[in-house]
Amino acid sequence: VNRGDRTPRGRAELDGTRNVLFDLDGCLWFGSRLAPGSAELVAYLRGSGIGVFFLTNASGAGSTELAVRLSRLGLPASPAEVVSPLTVLPRHPLFQRSRRVLTLGKPALADLLRAAGHVPVEEATEAEVVVVGNDIGLRFGDFSGALAALDAGAELLALNLDARVPVEDGGFICGTGAIVAAIRSGSGAVPQVVGKPSPVFFRTALETFGIPADGTVMVGDTPETDVAGGRAAGLKTVLVGRRSSGPRPDLGVPDLPTLLELFKQARGVVAV
Ligand SMILES: [Mg+2]
Repeated sequence: VNRGDRTPRGRAELDGTRNVLFDLDGCLWFGSRLAPGSAELVAYLRGSGIGVFFLTNASGAGSTELAVRLSRLGLPASPAEVVSPLTVLPRHPLFQRSRRVLTLGKPALADLLRAAGHVPVEEATEAEVVVVGNDIGLRFGDFSGALAALDAGAELLALNLDARVPVEDGGFICGTGAIVAAIRSGSGAVPQVVGKPSPVFFRTALETFGIPADGTVMVGDTPETDVAGGRAAGLKTVLVGRRSSGPRPDLGVPDLPTLLELFKQARGVVAV
């Protein structure tokens, strides 16, 4: 019997992995529930000496809050191991000097920018940058204000462009991308994006984690963000789930338990 015949396809794509970046929504968790097999996979990788980090487009929480949430759900994490758009926002090229900013998002968004030396404004037409995140408290007037700011020359910056956020039981909630699409429709403004697939986001994440692109694998459920952005940053990419459209990953798996089995068979992964 040729044992090679029974080797699951894709093993070679994981050979020599030193670090893994995990997407959160729709990958490691769905709303308030961990995806099946996520704790086992993360524990196996860490036990094998692989660096495990978390790279999410979640627009409503920073590294500290996300690390607490991960830890409570059973995936121990420190803030230094988590990067989200709020983490990277103050370092975005649009914020290299002090800016007057109109924010559509949770109060933490304006607080973060104020702490970084920028000036949240109430009068929309005074804004130089309109920053958009997810916020169930958004009102009609917020959209009108954004249009007024953009008409007056402000730049449009989205924390992400994800149209939906997957939650429990196959459901979803409206994502930042759908909010941005409404603003774009009303203004004609073309948004820049802070999170995945932005090259700035991946570059900042690798710097923050102190790891190289070589030997690093991005694992996520969205071809347009996790795969496209990861590949552009020089990472190997793994797509979890059964999406058939969009950029093709180096490796596709139906679920995390399958990915765990493939890691167990990869060369150069298990620490001696
Ligand atoms: Mg995702």
